[in-house]
Amino acid sequence: MTKSNGEEARMGGRMERFQQGVRKRTLLAKKKVQNITKEDVKSYLFRNAFVLLTVTAVIVGTILGFTLRPYKMSYREVKYFSFPGELLMRMLQMLVLPLIISSLVTGMAALDSKASGKMGMRAVVYYMTTTIIAVVIGIIIVIIIHPGKGTKENMHREGKIVQVTAADAFLDLIRYAPLGILFLIAGKIVEMEDMGVIGGQLAMYTVTVIVGLLIHAVIVLPLLYFLVTRKNPWVFIGGLLQALVTALGTSSSSATLPITFKCLEENNGVDKRVTRFVLPVGATINMDGTALYEALAAIFIAQVNNFDLNFGQIITISITATAASIGAAGIPQAGLVTMVIVLTSVGLPTDDITLIIAVDWFLDRLRTTTNVLGDSLGAGIVEHLSRHELKNRDVEMGNSVIEENEMKKPYQLIAQESEIEKSIDSETKM
Ligand code: ASP
Repeated sequence: MTKSNGEEARMGGRMERFQQGVRKRTLLAKKKVQNITKEDVKSYLFRNAFVLLTVTAVIVGTILGFTLRPYKMSYREVKYFSFPGELLMRMLQMLVLPLIISSLVTGMAALDSKASGKMGMRAVVYYMTTTIIAVVIGIIIVIIIHPGKGTKENMHREGKIVQVTAADAFLDLIRYAPLGILFLIAGKIVEMEDMGVIGGQLAMYTVTVIVGLLIHAVIVLPLLYFLVTRKNPWVFIGGLLQALVTALGTSSSSATLPITFKCLEENNGVDKRVTRFVLPVGATINMDGTALYEALAAIFIAQVNNFDLNFGQIITISITATAASIGAAGIPQAGLVTMVIVLTSVGLPTDDITLIIAVDWFLDRLRTTTNVLGDSLGAGIVEHLSRHELKNRDVEMGNSVIEENEMKKPYQLIAQESEIEKSIDSETKM
């Protein structure tokens, strides 16, 4: 009796403390809100203008697209309408090649060979681990949900696979990105096939891919980041918002690369020596979303063909899906093309890719966003793991290399505000 009384009293005390804590925090929050001035709001809006604009662009683009759909525009009209979006895509693609080459060169030049070797090793271990986890999630989810019940006879098939090529030159275009994204999304929605053709199996397949990607992007990757760095992954992801929305708008992780650089370096203060080294490689070979999707889609195609896969074939799919994701370029729907490798490896009909084309433009956006998230969190993790080497290097070089590099950074063209002082700080503090 007395024991339970004591327990009750302790519980009551704890409750009291908890309530006091809540009260204190509410009071503090209230004070903070009261202290917010017009200037604060203005400066917040100004600082986050591009993120806000990009998110608004996605929303306005979606609304505009659905509003214009009933007008049944001709092919030519749709092309004209999507032109600003097309322009953005081309400009981003022009940037990619020189950006990858110059950032890799400067990134490696800023490190000695031992440090870059170690950093490279860490990046590769991260890429392999996350890609394999993604493939396993894809396989488990598609086996559990089993979206390919029934036959493929009543499924709709669609056209051929189109590939996009990349050109090379420079342009400053980040300011243009939100407008371009608006038209990219609106144009795609206007152009989209009627939703009616998306039958039950395909709808289930779409849901399965979304669930798989969500598990990987919202649970696995942030958890991994937290376990390694012990920092809040959501703060880090918050800084990446603009890159993630750009990935969603462009369906291309390579085209998003300039913005990923900017978000990581300016918002998250990741060391430039790491981003320059890790991001270009990551954008080309580390594609968790694509790996997950390739394994999942291949098993879906097996399911609609009533093709029973044995364990050996599932392992084959995992290996080829990993390879296919590494081989896929960071351009729209590249994953759909490299899926031929996965399908042929277990003797599935490659023609059946046409069964999933109808929804691929949409799923491509989601897997590209996952790819960009994986690359970015990878850069954060590699920076954390390499902090000692980076610090040693700073001491050795008296930081002169970094300052010199600041002046020559290859993507200076695209930086909006020159936050050189801030980024030097972030490098020296390591
Ligand atoms: N579009 C993807 C990317 O650029 C590749 C894919 O098709 O899966 O990351």
